[in-house]
Amino acid sequence: MNHEDAFLPINLAQSEPYRWQGVSEHVYKADGDVSSFKDVTRRKLFIDPEKSGIELRYFEIAPTGHTTLEKHDHIHLVIPIRGAGSCLVDNKLIKLEINDVVHVPSWAWHQFRASDDDHLGFLCLVTCERDRPTLPTKEDLEILKKDPSVADFIRAHQIS
Ligand code: MN
Repeated sequence: MNHEDAFLPINLAQSEPYRWQGVSEHVYKADGDVSSFKDVTRRKLFIDPEKSGIELRYFEIAPTGHTTLEKHDHIHLVIPIRGAGSCLVDNKLIKLEINDVVHVPSWAWHQFRASDDDHLGFLCLVTCERDRPTLPTKEDLEILKKDPSVADFIRAHQIS
């Protein structure tokens, strides 16, 4: 469960493209396993624990970087707005286009990667209250890697 302070701007104006006034950059997962992701930043754009229970974030992955391969009970709605990249959702590889809407269902494995020569920036909508991600075990990775294209895509370390 997260206990974030509310952040409810009426208009969050950009200071420059993909940056917003008064919004600071955070490490993707300050308390996470740093070997599970590469070159990812996070910005909090809207947090409403009381009324709607929703939170909107902006993530940016530098070229060749990636998020953690993980799964969890809560869902994501992801909208790429900058650059180029691709993702794994469940066992599907998706080439991302700007303004696509990607639904990461409950307990679906997922990982986002920037292209080798461009950033990938995306909005991500979640509920404020959400469970912590589960990382893949050796057995999980073996199952995922039965698909050669998935094996080629994923960047992950075994946790057991
Ligand atoms: Mn996730």
